[in-house]
Amino acid sequence: MRQSKFFMPTLKEAPADAVAESHKLMLRGGYIRQVTAGVYAYLPLGYRVLRKAENIMEEEMSKIDVPEMSMPHFLPASLWEESGRLKKYGPEMFRLKDRHGRESLLGPTHEETFTEIVAKNLKSYKQMPIALYQIQTKFRDENRPRFGLLRGREFIMLDAYSFAATADQLDQQFEDERRAFANVFKRCGVQVRQVIADSGTMGGKNSTEFQAPADIGEDTIATNESGSYSANVEMAESVDTFKQAPEDPKEVAKVATPGQKTIADLVKFMKVPATRIVKSVLYIVDDKQTVLVLIRGDKKINEIKLTHLLDADSVREANDKELKEITGAEKGGVGPVKADWADKIIADNTVKGLYNFVVGANETGYQLKNVNLNRDFTVDDFGDIRVANEGEPDPVDHQPLKFTTSIEVGHIFKLGTYYTQTIGSKFLDKNGKAQPVIMGSYGIGVTRMLSAIVEQHLTKFGVAWPKEVAPFSVHIVQMKMNKEEQTKLAEQLEKKFSAKYDVLYDDRKERAGVKFADADLVGAPIRITVGKKAGDGIVEVKRPTDAKATEIPVDKLDNFVN
Ligand code: ATP
Ligand code: MG
Ligand code: MG
Ligand code: MG
Repeated sequence: MRQSKFFMPTLKEAPADAVAESHKLMLRGGYIRQVTAGVYAYLPLGYRVLRKAENIMEEEMSKIDVPEMSMPHFLPASLWEESGRLKKYGPEMFRLKDRHGRESLLGPTHEETFTEIVAKNLKSYKQMPIALYQIQTKFRDENRPRFGLLRGREFIMLDAYSFAATADQLDQQFEDERRAFANVFKRCGVQVRQVIADSGTMGGKNSTEFQAPADIGEDTIATNESGSYSANVEMAESVDTFKQAPEDPKEVAKVATPGQKTIADLVKFMKVPATRIVKSVLYIVDDKQTVLVLIRGDKKINEIKLTHLLDADSVREANDKELKEITGAEKGGVGPVKADWADKIIADNTVKGLYNFVVGANETGYQLKNVNLNRDFTVDDFGDIRVANEGEPDPVDHQPLKFTTSIEVGHIFKLGTYYTQTIGSKFLDKNGKAQPVIMGSYGIGVTRMLSAIVEQHLTKFGVAWPKEVAPFSVHIVQMKMNKEEQTKLAEQLEKKFSAKYDVLYDDRKERAGVKFADADLVGAPIRITVGKKAGDGIVEVKRPTDAKATEIPVDKLDNFVN
């Protein structure tokens, strides 16, 4: 590719509103341009990287026998009504109406569509396990689109969906996808950590995120010394998803089922962001030494949303003043619950559920197990849950934890039968019994990953693209276009390397300074400069991470280009 014909509008300075280094680099290098907030055009340079990353994904999906397909972006709201996510998804969903007034939406993700189009065609256990994927544009009206491709409102995702007849099959599919995703990130040159996420933050294993450590990352992950424990400290989604507590006491009581309930389960059940919940927590111990954690709404006690239980040693913090009001306890957040306080609550209709729950909770076995404040999580000054403080032991192997900011580049999830049950898709199992298909979903933020790669491969003046995703593998830079011997050699090299590599040949009539500055932004794994000594068959080579270029005879070039 001749650079004189290549469209690569570089900038000396990134626009002042670009904060993330990857965003600055992609704007300066002419990889992308913003069209509107969180919506970008992929210019030729950016598009080349994107296509290479997508090719890698296609190869890795093929290796695990997962075929590619493509779903529409434009979806009927009715399908999301069936799954119950139409309301739940909140303002992040782009909604539209057609001329007949029918509600539609632009797909933010495709669980419903795959359930409808694929799962419903699976009639027998013999057709499973099977999985499919697509690489496609997604739409999410993010509250704060920012950092270039890191958080867009229109972005590209690889999303795969698996369909199984048994839980074992799902486990196997999950492991296959995990392996394929790990290969994708490795080949794309993104260093990732697999972390316990969302439902799993306290040790569950249904959801794993692929997190790429980077300063700009919006997530924080906690990892222990040996790497045997790694978790996202984020516990819930945006405040936009806030919902009222269920009014039916029976619904509330469901949370207090015996066993391994975690804060995250609770958050899921309530559809309330953890931050919102934990901001106003009260810890009380009743006379049976059961610790009752009241999770309140905003201000008043009658806005209590939910209660749940922790064991006694979980109590570390409390709002002394409010506790005193309720329990009469002077300090420390621990004291018997006063009878009149319970009456006060019961008197208020909105918290009937709470009363039932309190009663239920005193029964044996109705405790949250293995979740301890300060051991497994803490609450920071902003009310956010953290799995622990830095330096504190992790809950599994009890090694000191370290916190790192990072970028969520992928997320794999065992969905189970939620979508097939709500949308209604059954198959006949071995015994001829109708069962809901068991699903998994697996996503990579393709365009977000490009930013993550840049974040992890910045150089002093530009970027050093990992080999497999570099927009060009070899960059030939000719110093003076009016020197015949330079043109001759440069064209010769262009021909030679083009047979095997993607070559960009800078044939522009530009100053050397301009050419080198642009080459730093292209970030090809090897730059070959054809200059003064072209006549003697000598060129300069430089990798993006080299401090200086090295002179070598052209017949030694093969040692550098690979
Ligand atoms: P986040 O927590 O960053 O909002 P998410 O958990 O909402 O992401 P998922 O629903 O898990 O995202 O989607 C799968 C993948 O899609 C994510 O792991 C991420 O890499 C990517 N992704 C999600 N939202 C965006 C976005 N707004 N812009 C670019 N990529 C995104
Ligand atoms: Mg999100
Ligand atoms: Mg997330
Ligand atoms: Mg996610």
